[in-house]
Amino acid sequence: MIEFLLKIAGLLYKKRCYFCGKSDDNSVMCKNCYEKTEFLPYKKFKTVNNVDVYCAAVYKNDIKKLIRGLKYHNQRELAYFQAKIMYDYWKNLRISEKEFLLVPVPLFPKREKHRKYNHMVLVAKEFEKLTQDKCRTEEHLIKRIKNTKPQYKLTRKEREENLKNAFETVAGFEVYKNKSILIIDDIFTTGVTLKEMIKTLQNNGFGNICCFTTSCSEHAL
Ligand SMILES: [Zn+2]
Repeated sequence: MIEFLLKIAGLLYKKRCYFCGKSDDNSVMCKNCYEKTEFLPYKKFKTVNNVDVYCAAVYKNDIKKLIRGLKYHNQRELAYFQAKIMYDYWKNLRISEKEFLLVPVPLFPKREKHRKYNHMVLVAKEFEKLTQDKCRTEEHLIKRIKNTKPQYKLTRKEREENLKNAFETVAGFEVYKNKSILIIDDIFTTGVTLKEMIKTLQNNGFGNICCFTTSCSEHAL
């Protein structure tokens, strides 16, 4: 009887696809919409401070909707799909054979409190599961100590000034100094955020760094 009721409830509350609105797959991203993902070539995207940066797709259409949905509209279930897009790209790279410590770009505590979560931490944890724990997340290795302004309105020079000394490594993680670190973020625009994070990590003895972003703005191509 309970099973029957659950089945009825399941039919009534079928999840709708956040992208096309259909509920055939009972998923926030249906198979059809997922398969429309256009991946960038499976190779290094940029170099920032001598560090390789990889990027899975361009920030437009459904990728844009996905990132914004998770980041601003509390669509937390989208974290899995953002991670899956990253993982489906990542597994085609030779570098994916290596083990990495996943370091999501931190938010300033006040902003995280306001949003209730750091979207990139959610993505990192889903990515970790997809790698079957080959990569592990460490969200506390580096923190944001400056309440930076949103970057999208600023020029490159203003972005650099805005992000200057914005991060600080946290004591107690020296054990990771020999580990390979993978910084992950949602959008690559000018690379200023990554540059500042890389600099902070390098200055504190974390040398083996690589970056991976879900997307890049069309200007960055
Ligand atoms: Zn769909």
